[in-house]
Amino acid sequence: AQKSARRPGQDDAARAEALSRRFAEVYGHDPDGVWRAPGRVNLIGEHTDYNDGFVLPFAIDRSAMVAVRLRRDAGPGRRTGQGQAGHDVVDLASTWAPDGEGLSRARFRIADLAPGTAAGWSAYPAGVVHVLAGPDGVDVPGFELLLDSTVPVGAGLSSSHAVEVATIVALNDLLDLGLDRPAMARLTQRAENEFVGAPTGIMDQSASLMGRAGAALFLDCRTQEAQLVPLPVAEHGLAVLVIDTGVAHSHADGGYGARRASCEHGATALGAASLRDVPAGADLTGLDPETARRVRHVLSENRRVLGTVERLRAGDLAGIGALLVASHASLRDDYEVSCPELDLAVDTALAAGAVGARMTGGGFGGSAIALVPAARTEQVRDAVAQAFAEQGRRAPQVFAVVPGEGAGRVR
Ligand code: ADP
Ligand code: MG
Repeated sequence: AQKSARRPGQDDAARAEALSRRFAEVYGHDPDGVWRAPGRVNLIGEHTDYNDGFVLPFAIDRSAMVAVRLRRDAGPGRRTGQGQAGHDVVDLASTWAPDGEGLSRARFRIADLAPGTAAGWSAYPAGVVHVLAGPDGVDVPGFELLLDSTVPVGAGLSSSHAVEVATIVALNDLLDLGLDRPAMARLTQRAENEFVGAPTGIMDQSASLMGRAGAALFLDCRTQEAQLVPLPVAEHGLAVLVIDTGVAHSHADGGYGARRASCEHGATALGAASLRDVPAGADLTGLDPETARRVRHVLSENRRVLGTVERLRAGDLAGIGALLVASHASLRDDYEVSCPELDLAVDTALAAGAVGARMTGGGFGGSAIALVPAARTEQVRDAVAQAFAEQGRRAPQVFAVVPGEGAGRVR
């Protein structure tokens, strides 16, 4: 059995070929094709998405890959229950298993899909089928799917959206649905909100669908307007390191909900529909101190995103370092979503020569990113390992990511 599709940076074509072979072992015939969808890193713009604000993520060179084959016995009549038995069965398998070795497999009938019916990771592909095949949706036949991903799970790089996006681009092609990328972003958001039950925004899917090599995606979460911004990291002698702390603090969910509530409360108190409508220099003294800090983060973070876009367009990559650092300070002090491990990662990376660093993702654990002169990569890596060891903390995973291509067909 091939476990070959694990190494990041491995040529996509070779990886797809290995996945096809594995598919044939698992299901007894070849897939119809292979598709990939990358994870993402959010360069800057944290906790702004649900405030109708700005974000600047980029797709990374790590991706979920799916081999898919539609059921040949699938015929008309699914909706009436008159079709052949088994034709609307979806079989899923992943090379990733929550605890350890072997394939994790799942199976469901499309006719039986309803929110809450799919457990574990199968909820992500099932959610995509659910929104496509909904009441006014299209006729989705059963299919077989084999998934292999190089996006680390739970590191804040959106491994879950990579699974959803890989599934939707595959079905869009195979069923000739003609969906454009913004439409697929909205559908996967609905899959996540309505089926998986996570109140997430549009950023992660958009980055995975619309990212391009050497670019970041400047996204206005209010209008969904997306623009590519140059991010030629290597050409500037720089590298982006992800420092995955491996910690997930238990108050993450409650903390996220509480921050959203604070923002809504702040907007209402300021007479605005959302914090996007509050001017940057607004007087926050009428708010209670905690709400004022939350609001101040969102307003200042939106400005930092705009500043970052401006510098990148001017070709001043190193110039964004100070904005990354300011973003982290704001998330730590005003928004209070950092944690000791993220602060240690950021402080250590900066001390070891990073030009900028910040926590990325929702916070309370997960990953930090550091923008590092390429020649200093090893120095930063070693310093982080040493700092965590000195505090008796588990060694973080440190790896470089490159702004990569968005989702598409590989084979
Ligand atoms: P992340 O920040 O990585 O998106 P989440 O908790 O949102 O973290 O999503 C992780 C979940 O996504 C996993 O628990 C699993 O259900 C699903 N997932 C991600 N990658 C895979 C994979 N390769 N195979 C199966 N499920 C996966
Ligand atoms: Mg996720």
